[in-house]
Amino acid sequence: MTDLLEPLIRGDRRALSRAITLIESTRADHRARAVELLSRLPDRQALRIGLSGTPGVGKSTFIEAFGLMLTGQGLKVAVLAVDPSSARSGGSILGDKTRMEHLSRDPNAFIRPTPSSAELGGVARRTREAVRLCEAAGYDVVLIETVGVGQSETLVAEMSDLFVLLLAPAGGDELQGVKRGIMEMADLILVNKADGDLLATARRTVADYAGALRLLRKRAQDPAGFPKALPVSATTGEGLDQAWAEMQALMAWRRGQGHFDASRAAQARHWFMAELRAGLLARLDRPEVKAWLQQLGDAVASGQIAPGAAAAEVLDHLDAHD
Ligand code: GDP
Repeated sequence: MTDLLEPLIRGDRRALSRAITLIESTRADHRARAVELLSRLPDRQALRIGLSGTPGVGKSTFIEAFGLMLTGQGLKVAVLAVDPSSARSGGSILGDKTRMEHLSRDPNAFIRPTPSSAELGGVARRTREAVRLCEAAGYDVVLIETVGVGQSETLVAEMSDLFVLLLAPAGGDELQGVKRGIMEMADLILVNKADGDLLATARRTVADYAGALRLLRKRAQDPAGFPKALPVSATTGEGLDQAWAEMQALMAWRRGQGHFDASRAAQARHWFMAELRAGLLARLDRPEVKAWLQQLGDAVASGQIAPGAAAAEVLDHLDAHD
C-alpha cells in the first residue's frame, strides 16, 4: 500500500485515481487494503462543499467557472459526485469530464465521476472516503456534486462543511417546488443564470428565496444573515467571487465558534454508525444466509414461528459465528 500512499500524499493525480478505484472496489482484499490506506492518511483538511441542483440548472457550467476561479487563485480543486440515478442504472453522469472541459485539463483540478454501485448508500460511503483521499492529496477545496432529487442531498450534506443549492430563475409559484427539508440544509442558495433576459427574473427569485430563508428556524451554527440567497451567472462569471467570499466568511465564523470541528466530529460519528450498519447488513447478504432467511421468512409468513423469535434465531447464529 505504501506504493500508493507516497505518491498520493505528493499530490500525484494518477495515484489519487487509483486510490479511489481501490476504495470503490467491493472485493474483500481490496476493502482490507482500502481500510489500511485510509487509516494511514495524513490529517489534512480541505473545505468540503456540497452542491445540489436539478439537471439543467447549470451545475457543470458553475463548477467549471467556479473551479477555474479557485485554481486561478492558486487553490487545488477536486470535484466528486453522488449520482442517485447511477446507483440504479450503473451508469455515471455527474462529474463527467466532458461537462467540465477546461477544468478537467487544469493541473490543479481533479474530477472524478460518481462511482457506479448497486445502491445509493454505497455510493455515498465510497464518496466520503474519496473526499478523505482528496484531502490527503493536498486539495484545498472538494466540491461534491449531486442532483436535486431524493435523499442524495442529505447524504452529500452529511459529508460537507457547506451546502450550496443551485437554483434557476423562476416565477414565485415554483418556489414551493423546492422541498422545505432541502432549503433547511442550504447554507447558500445561488440563483444561477442571472444574466441577459433572465437577470430581472433571477433577482426576483433571489428576493423570494431570501424571504423564504428568513422564515426558517435560526440555526446555532449560522452567523447573522445566513443562510443567504445570491444571484450568480456561471456563463459570465458574475457573482462567483461574491459567492466564494460568502462561503469563506461563513467558514471563518464557524471555525471561530467551534461549529466547524463539532460538525466534522458529528459527521464522523454518523459515518461510523453507517459503516457498521452496512457491514452488519452485508453479513445477511451471503447466499447461504439469504437462503436460510428465505426459509425463515416462509415459516414466519405461515405462522410457524413468530417474527421476533425468527429474528432472534438469526442474531444468535451471527453471534455464534463471530
Ligand atoms: P447541469 O445539468 O446542472 O450540469 O447544467 P449545465 O451546466 O449542463 O447547464 C444547462 C444549460 O444551462 C446549458 O445550456 C448551459 O449553457 C446553460 N447555463 C448554465 N449556466 C448558465 C448561466 O449562468 N446563464 C445562462 N444564460 N445559461 C446557463
